[in-house]
Amino acid sequence: MTKSKKPDAATGALTYDDVRAVSPALEYYTKATLLEGLWKRPELSPRDRSVVTVAALIARIQSMEFRFHFGLALENGVQPAELSEIITHLAFYAGWGNATAAIVVAKDIFRERGIGMDELPAAKGKLLPINEEMEKQRATQVAGNFGTVSPELVQATTDVLFRDLWLRAVLAPRDRSLVTVSALIANAQTAQIPFHLNRAMDNGLTQAEASEMLHHIAFYAGWPCAMSALPVAKDVFEKRQNKAPEAAKTGDGQKTKQSGDSTMKITRAGTIPSMVGPRDWFTGKVRVDSLFPADGGRHSNGGVVTFEPGARTRWHTHPAGQTIVITQGLGWVQKDGESIQEVRPGDVVFFEPSEKHWHGASAQVGMTHIAITETVDGKAVDWLEAVSEEQYAR
Ligand code: MN
Repeated sequence: MTKSKKPDAATGALTYDDVRAVSPALEYYTKATLLEGLWKRPELSPRDRSVVTVAALIARIQSMEFRFHFGLALENGVQPAELSEIITHLAFYAGWGNATAAIVVAKDIFRERGIGMDELPAAKGKLLPINEEMEKQRATQVAGNFGTVSPELVQATTDVLFRDLWLRAVLAPRDRSLVTVSALIANAQTAQIPFHLNRAMDNGLTQAEASEMLHHIAFYAGWPCAMSALPVAKDVFEKRQNKAPEAAKTGDGQKTKQSGDSTMKITRAGTIPSMVGPRDWFTGKVRVDSLFPADGGRHSNGGVVTFEPGARTRWHTHPAGQTIVITQGLGWVQKDGESIQEVRPGDVVFFEPSEKHWHGASAQVGMTHIAITETVDGKAVDWLEAVSEEQYAR
């Protein structure tokens, strides 16, 4: 369907006049029930609805609706780079031909809107940090189950999907999950839904949003597809409810959206898994809890870093500087060529761009800091040699 009254010969998209000429009732449902009804419900943001709709349409190659909904997605805040990446993602989750069918229409929309290569994600772009523990668990389970059936497919699932495609930073993990789950539901791939719905909820999709997504998809993929997903979703919801600690059930992590707050981006506490500080970055035991990645036009990333006594970063520099706020314990920081300084909760340290330094816990007492690190072309840090025991002991 197009918004204009003129028929769109290029894509064969329909006008309301066309629809009315065949079914006045369908025109009414399209306008009243869908666009002025479903799409206005506050339980899911217009942007999320567009992500879900575009994914469901591409999954089923319902190209008659591509033009209208790709355009609506861009108007609802889906960036051209994100639409491009959704199409790429669906090549893997719906089929190569589904993606190329989407390209046939998207290329014209991009051209009409003057969207050039500079706005599109690079073939080899920035990758998000991987949660090694979760990925190891996934890979081990799949290899154990199916390693002998098709070792090549199992390996490609790891190499191409979970260590590459899923880490491409242009699409937030929650969006990528929303695209995947929508495509699975639209294609009635019920067996794949539990893993991906859980992943979506781990990536920040609330139960209320998932529930509304099912409602929304019914209109675009048909009732049977949505109804067939209900028992599977019910099982996922129940298992997560039973697994969630009491506090989390009422805490921020489970809080449903208030009506009207559809566009503000809030990453809920407890939705990003903790990461063990890698050995090539740190000495000793360190936990990193990401607060936010540098994405969506943001040129800094944030995290909480917890150092056990004696643990510290390697020597390093930041291309555009870093601010740390000590929140707990007793820490040591050092700029190359100067002496070690003690830092305590409330102290704020700014490391200037390219200033060689390290930060960490004191020898006897652990330390936690919040770190806000500016990025340049996605790069936040250059790691150097480890802080030796002699340097650390002053
Ligand atoms: Mn630093």
